Amino acid sequence: MNAWIQQAVALIKADAQRSADTHLIKLTLPVLSGVDLYLKDESSHPTGSLKHRLARSLFLYALCNGQISQNTTVIEASSGSTAVSEAYFARMIGVPFVAVMPRKTAKAKIQQVEFYGGRCHFVDCATQMHAAAVALAKECHGHFMDQFRYAERATDWRGNSNIAESIFRQMQLEQHPVPAAIVMSAGTGGTTATLGRYIRYRGFNTSLLAVDPENSVFYDVWQTGDTSIEIQQSGRIEGIGRPKAEESFQPHVIDRMMTVPDAASVAAMYWLEPLLGRKVGASTGTNLWGMLTLAAEMQQRDEHGSLVTLICDSGERYLDSYYDAAWVAQNIGELEVYQQQLAGLFTHGYRAMM
Ligand SMILES: *Cc1c(COP(=O)(O)O)cnc(C)c1O
Repeated sequence: MNAWIQQAVALIKADAQRSADTHLIKLTLPVLSGVDLYLKDESSHPTGSLKHRLARSLFLYALCNGQISQNTTVIEASSGSTAVSEAYFARMIGVPFVAVMPRKTAKAKIQQVEFYGGRCHFVDCATQMHAAAVALAKECHGHFMDQFRYAERATDWRGNSNIAESIFRQMQLEQHPVPAAIVMSAGTGGTTATLGRYIRYRGFNTSLLAVDPENSVFYDVWQTGDTSIEIQQSGRIEGIGRPKAEESFQPHVIDRMMTVPDAASVAAMYWLEPLLGRKVGASTGTNLWGMLTLAAEMQQRDEHGSLVTLICDSGERYLDSYYDAAWVAQNIGELEVYQQQLAGLFTHGYRAMM
């Protein structure tokens, strides 16, 4: 076997070995008794988001499939967290990395990719990213990682410390160790695929709720089974929702889906800050809104149990968007009704969500 590939795989495995698992945080809210809420904190990875897991898996997958060797340029279509995390692993094994992203991408994101030694290649709009990445890979005999295609298959769904196995292990000593449900939004759909497959494989009595933002087709694809649905608009909650059904999105492992208004996602991300003591990203708000809605339903049925969702990334990345009131007023709109509902949780319990 190729000595370079052997060494690259060893470097990534050693890095994983040195890394700690992410925390599973219990959200303690005395007035909301009966349903216990947990947050798997994926913002604590070295590159700051759940895409750290994906990037590690995609690199190992490509290396073991012989798609990356010494001097192969790795290319990804991503203006977000995936580009940052892949740049980190590319530098680790010493291959060049290029992120194809829209020209209007936030400076902070560009700087993070460059911080890890990556290069950014700009296109005029998001719809051109995929074709540009394919063209660039062909031109430089590089490898296009293609997260929206390979995310679901790069991760070992049976275990091997994937996020699902980690959650169930960390829940073992809790009052309700098997969650009634796990709630997660979909971007590539890779995380929901891993969670849904693992739940079935282990036979857990846990349902998987996928939450979708506005301007995304995932909900309709799940509902109708029609994977050809496309829309023109693009979503406003970073990291989640897509205008077309990406290959990586696996609707059949999802038990239930729910659309969350973008204003409710932002209201929920604000609501969490004083409880957690720090800021989270907007997709975490989407997840949280879905989890609180389920909790309300459980309380209405007099059920006790636990619910788990993810903190996908930290809010520090969004100080000039979701944490800027003027930006929110212009791009998201009024949050008031949702903020009132969330405030009501402390006085009326989960009924405030109904
Ligand atoms: C990618 C991403 C998600 C969704 O995860 P997938 O596994 O791609 O479906 C959610 N939130 C953020 C911030 C992301 O970057």
